[in-house]
Amino acid sequence: MPEILLTNARVLIDSEFQSAQVLIGADGRISAVVGLTGQTAGLPAGQAAVVDLGGAYLAPGFFDLHFHGLEDKTTNGNELAELASVEIRHGVTSFTPTLCAAGVKLLKLIEEKTIQAQKLSQTTRCPGFYLEGPFVSLAGAIPPECLMEADMGFARELIATAGKMIRVIMISPELPGAVELIELMAGAGITVALGHTAATVEQTQRAIDGGASLATHIYNVYKEMPKSPEPGVWPVGVYDVLTADDRVTCEVICDGIHVHPVNAKIICRAKGPEKVAIITDSNVGAGLKPGRYEFPGWPAVEIRSGDAVRDAEHGWLCGSAITVDEGVRRGPKVMGCTLAQACDMAGRNIYNVVGLGEEFGKIAPGYWADFVVMDEQGEVRGAFVGGEMVYKSRKV
Ligand SMILES: [Zn+2]
Repeated sequence: MPEILLTNARVLIDSEFQSAQVLIGADGRISAVVGLTGQTAGLPAGQAAVVDLGGAYLAPGFFDLHFHGLEDKTTNGNELAELASVEIRHGVTSFTPTLCAAGVKLLKLIEEKTIQAQKLSQTTRCPGFYLEGPFVSLAGAIPPECLMEADMGFARELIATAGKMIRVIMISPELPGAVELIELMAGAGITVALGHTAATVEQTQRAIDGGASLATHIYNVYKEMPKSPEPGVWPVGVYDVLTADDRVTCEVICDGIHVHPVNAKIICRAKGPEKVAIITDSNVGAGLKPGRYEFPGWPAVEIRSGDAVRDAEHGWLCGSAITVDEGVRRGPKVMGCTLAQACDMAGRNIYNVVGLGEEFGKIAPGYWADFVVMDEQGEVRGAFVGGEMVYKSRKV
């Protein structure tokens, strides 16, 4: 691959879009960034092919951390290549498809998906999976056959079989044996998320001390507010611990519906812009135009503009309708942050919490040249993976 010089771009550096030029080396990594505040000299193009981005916004590619499906496809049922071909159009350059299963079925599913992940090239990368379970106490929308007790023997088998492909595992901290399980997983280099839980404050704190560092879709599938301990004293719950503890990054379904904007703003301010992860938790229907849809095995759903996916007959929630880029665009309104901060919440913060932050998620020398190209409204115009422009919208 020849060297490429990206010019005429607003580049996300230190949580701000700044005028800069980015030189991509022959190895697909960033070799230089010039034009930071106080520096005016451009990079000599030399042998590099110059790509003029026409004033577009350039950010590290988004990371779809937690999703079950998109359009008419599911992570369990479709080839990862089919999902990647949708994701890349939304500026997603890495994803960890969420898998729900238990026992032997889970081991088989991971094996099958690992083969699919290895086949991906020149599209969204798959550095592993997000296991939503099986060690879960509150099922929420997880089918009961996908749940298990905290079984240390199975947990060891899971680690031995799946190796590094388990990037995240969600565990409910109140399960008997949860702390030991969390220590085992975190010790194996897996990011442990807490969620689907009715844990007490103490159980949550012990789980974080044991190595948990992520909160699964905060404010969704958590026990409602506990009773007041004493008259006149405001109660405290599991979500308060997750929000207050600096060791934890909180996932927020950033559609403005699954988390009320008041709560989203509280989380954003309490955590600071570096400890929030924008997620979609999307399933079939997400990313489609408003309308009524019928997918095999699902009740008919309806999607209205700016809303979630809803049961067409009863109107109840069937999942979010957003893609990651739409979550980023809604970020300023839902969380009261800047577009640049929302990009970090869908990129850098996630790479950091899953242990990839040394090589991905930052526009700086040595990092992989995985980028999303946007206009000033955050509409995706293109995507780079390993220095190659693998997606380009007609509007570029
Ligand atoms: Zn969930």
